[in-house]
Amino acid sequence: MRLVLVGPPGAGKGTQAQFIAAQYDVPQVSTGDIFRANVGQSTPLGLEAKRYMDAGELVPDSVTIAMVEDRLLQDDAAKGFLLDGFPRNVAQAEVLDTLLERAGTSLDVVLELVVDDEEVVRRLSGRRTCSSCGRVWHVDFDPSSVEGQCDHCGGTLFQRDDDKPETIRRRLQVYAEQTAPVVGFYAERGLLERIDATGTVDGVTARILAVLRRFDR
Ligand code: ADP
Ligand code: AMP
Repeated sequence: MRLVLVGPPGAGKGTQAQFIAAQYDVPQVSTGDIFRANVGQSTPLGLEAKRYMDAGELVPDSVTIAMVEDRLLQDDAAKGFLLDGFPRNVAQAEVLDTLLERAGTSLDVVLELVVDDEEVVRRLSGRRTCSSCGRVWHVDFDPSSVEGQCDHCGGTLFQRDDDKPETIRRRLQVYAEQTAPVVGFYAERGLLERIDATGTVDGVTARILAVLRRFDR
């Protein structure tokens, strides 16, 4: 299974990606997670990316595309993958097409998680992220049992710098201007499936798995 999750920041891509990746036994490739891991380790890539991430802007394509290409060439991605947060503009989508074509494969499906801006703001302002395993929680909608501590691995939870209100507003603008056209790009190619991403996490997962069953081979 080769699939892409697209949707505004806070739509629940990361939350759903972990279930889908486990169900289909494919690696979850989240460009945001890879950038954050590099920021945490202060690598040159991380230092470069951080400036853009903190401002709510996209990291330049030259950096992002090379990183994704490298990741998709790793052995575990040969059987399939789930891309979360990539492509985020049409240029990235075109490069992905070329990379896959070169490898003699193509995407099976692109899932668009649909939620409105108001819900996005509610989700992002309460999001807490584990500094060790990267799992996301929400202070109201999906709280960890001990405040500030990840139930999954015991790591410390933090609020992302880019989940502050002014950066959230900019990220939504960037989504509308640069990422929304990616949805049209895939719709034209007949790859797009729209998923209502409101309601409970389990409810959204069930809707996604019901759609994906049609692509099982
Ligand atoms: P994305 O990866 O699309 O930016 P996340 O998966 O990180 O979004 O989710 C953003 C926030 O919303 C997190 O705090 C997560 O716990 C919460 N969340 C995810 N799905 C739902 C849902 N269906 N209902 C309520 N909150 C949700
Ligand atoms: P995310 O974790 O998906 O919300 O991404 C966090 C931030 O990482 C974004 O706001 C961007 O600055 C950067 N980023 C993640 N994926 C991409 C991408 N495909 N292209 C450019 N920047 C990205």
